[in-house]
Amino acid sequence: MKLEGIHHITAITGDAQRNIDFYAGTMGLRLVKKTVNQDAPSVYHLFYADEGGNPGADLTFFEFRGAPRGRAGAGMVHRIGWRVASTAAVDFWAERLEAAGREPVRAGDRLRFADHEGLEHELVVATVDDQPLIAEHPEVPAEFALQGFDSARAFSADPERSAGLLDTLEFDSIDGGWEVRGSDRGGTWHYDDPPAEPGLEGAGTVHHIAWASNMDEHLDWRRRAIEGGAHPTPVIDRFWFLSIYFREPSGVLFEIATLGPGFGVDEDPERLGEKLILPPFLEDRREEIEAQLVPVENPRAAARR
Ligand code: ZN
Repeated sequence: MKLEGIHHITAITGDAQRNIDFYAGTMGLRLVKKTVNQDAPSVYHLFYADEGGNPGADLTFFEFRGAPRGRAGAGMVHRIGWRVASTAAVDFWAERLEAAGREPVRAGDRLRFADHEGLEHELVVATVDDQPLIAEHPEVPAEFALQGFDSARAFSADPERSAGLLDTLEFDSIDGGWEVRGSDRGGTWHYDDPPAEPGLEGAGTVHHIAWASNMDEHLDWRRRAIEGGAHPTPVIDRFWFLSIYFREPSGVLFEIATLGPGFGVDEDPERLGEKLILPPFLEDRREEIEAQLVPVENPRAAARR
């Protein structure tokens, strides 16, 4: 039993439309679901991914409107790694991100930058043969597109204390970190020394990271998490996947989410993310919920007109 790499990463933004402009615009991802936080439905929850809305390429944001910028500290993910195909792709992104005012920093074949709220990303040339998960974008040629998650890095003053749980979750120790690799996909997980200042949750910080479980192994992973000393939530039906949550010993909020059923269950795959989707249990509150949200535009919907 192995986890299939990173399922999704969820961060916080203070401005949904600017967030869409950057991730579905500059970064060329597809906004595949526009919904609300199921636990706080006055808050947008935006999901970006590849064309098919697949786990492994799914970056999501809660919009806490007007939230001040946070900063990553101990117990928080501070950088998200993405695969690209080639050095030429790194060249492409260096130029595109520079033009977007993101001041990317290049080190060999790695390109590091932060979004306009300070959320850090790094592009790396893929060294594995996982299926590239790419989105279509008129300004981003397919051969240069982001291909899904490569890695994530968190801050921890004492990463050793996380080792036991990670072991129980079948993370493999590698040089300088951990690898999580299933039969189809994988990624790496690293800890870095934390900055002196404590973390502050806010715009531009990561809320949690989710690891991908096969459908029939989800309850087994919950048992494993308990064996490893964690305190997982009961299984929660997120409608597009099933989830459990627990904090790992360094303080990072982990989720384990199932690979399915996926974003196509309640929307035409051609029109993903174009209208506000509510989980069935919130549908009877649609009018009230929509009245609390500032409308935002998915560039795919705009392009149709
Ligand atoms: Zn999540």
